[in-house]
Amino acid sequence: MTNTHLPAASDLGDEQLRARFDNSFVRELPADPLRQDFPRQVRNACFSHVQPTSVAAPRLLAWTDALGEQLGIRRPESATGAAAEVLGGNKVLPGMQPYAARYGGHQFGNWAGQLGDGRAMTLTEIIGAQNQRYDLQLKGAGLTPYSRTADGRAVLRSSVREFLCSEAMHHLGVPTTRALSLVATGDAVVRDMFYNGNAAAEPGAIVCRVEPSFIRFGNFEILTWSDELDELKQLADYTINTHFPELGAPSPQVYAKWFEEICRRTAIMVAEWMRVGFVHGVMNTDNMSILGLTIDYGPYGWLEGYDLGWTPNTTDAEGRRYCFGRQPEIAQWNLLRLAGALSPLIPDRADLENGIRTFGNVYAEQTRKAMSNKLGLLNWDDNDDALIEDLMATLQEQETDMTLFFRLLADVPIDTKADNDSALIAPLRRAFYVEGDDAGKHLIAWLHRYVLRVQRDAENPATRRERMNRANPKYVARNYLAQLAIDALVAGDSSVINRLVSVLQKPYDDQPEHDELAARRPEWARHKAGCSALSCSS
Ligand code: AMP
Ligand code: MG
Repeated sequence: MTNTHLPAASDLGDEQLRARFDNSFVRELPADPLRQDFPRQVRNACFSHVQPTSVAAPRLLAWTDALGEQLGIRRPESATGAAAEVLGGNKVLPGMQPYAARYGGHQFGNWAGQLGDGRAMTLTEIIGAQNQRYDLQLKGAGLTPYSRTADGRAVLRSSVREFLCSEAMHHLGVPTTRALSLVATGDAVVRDMFYNGNAAAEPGAIVCRVEPSFIRFGNFEILTWSDELDELKQLADYTINTHFPELGAPSPQVYAKWFEEICRRTAIMVAEWMRVGFVHGVMNTDNMSILGLTIDYGPYGWLEGYDLGWTPNTTDAEGRRYCFGRQPEIAQWNLLRLAGALSPLIPDRADLENGIRTFGNVYAEQTRKAMSNKLGLLNWDDNDDALIEDLMATLQEQETDMTLFFRLLADVPIDTKADNDSALIAPLRRAFYVEGDDAGKHLIAWLHRYVLRVQRDAENPATRRERMNRANPKYVARNYLAQLAIDALVAGDSSVINRLVSVLQKPYDDQPEHDELAARRPEWARHKAGCSALSCSS
């Protein structure tokens, strides 16, 4: 049976596929008139035309079948054929008009001026079976006018991390960009991983990322900060017409509705990060998608021990601006910067304030929904906020694996007699990093309250368990698992990444044959580079 939602599959170079290429961003928005790659300040433009720089020996390392099907692109038959040439940047197909977007951003709280796609380039847009639009973007394909002093390349380790995590997030149900392919370039890339004078050559790679649009908050900020208000209006109108058509034709009221919608989507995205224990690591405004998708996977990480103050990003170790617990607050701060950038289009302050209020309301509502599913509560009552707050404080006290804790919570016997402490805590033991008699005195007290609370709902236990399991993934892209996949790939073994990719496609399913991929972080990975400590160097 054919699925009418999917386009017919073609090879990357086929005529049928070419007929579905479009370049609306390039066609409708002002271009930088220069067509050279040297780093420069660009004015009065939303993008620069670019060409990928060839690589030595592109070889396909990984491919996402489900996304390929959605785009109507067939899995390449050979690792080194025509598809690898296109996805490695050696060949631009007729009909593609590659460009690098111009954007700015607030980095670590300060306006950083022009940033832009320094190593990413969008090859083209592909139109799906139901007129959806997807950008195909290569990350690591060479220099652009926005490369500043860097090389336009990406290393294999970060490319694997982006490929793996963005797909894992998609299957968790978190709004995100996706990844179609991972290509080894055959070129070496030199990086000083911890900015400590130890530069080393590493294998290079290119990920092909996919999403309806890679427009960021920073694309608007750069125009307003450069006083390019005609271009600001053009970009806003293009974005609304192309990606938010349901809001109506652009007008002052529609700009206000649009800002509110961005606030709403951003709230949902961050609430989802908090639900699954994802830390983005570098929430600068240039890394915030206007569509409310998780974008730019760099020094991100997954919570192991539940810790609001944890950040995977060594560059942020001191200030902890982007630590787990501050993500909602920072998202709001970023929306305020976007509000500033859009204020020439939305002159009434009340409209902007309304958007920010919507962020707060939607975040609170989403969190409440997520937490009642995670804990298996029905009929939210006023005491539940305190129950959850006390749990968070308790988890913070002693190193407890967030993913395992919530997954195992469904196994806590809720018909236990109130004095049976050990039965209550037994199913959770696997989540503790440190064992001890004290382990869980507060937690046991909390569990007694929890059991009474759950009993009050009198929900069918199987239904409750099912609901909890859909909110509490068993498998996440744990930092050390990604590192093991990278180490294996560098040694020429792709079986580890393939297994991980396949398990992470069903993160809520038990898949008992893969239990070891749901285990606590082993001690060797506690302080290991790439596992718990990551830098922006990628
Ligand atoms: P990030 O914080 O990684 O999102 O990047 C911030 C800015 O630096 C963006 O403008 C990137 O395009 C740029 N950038 C990061 N790495 C490179 C690189 N290797 N070559 C060129 N530009 C880069
Ligand atoms: Mg970025």
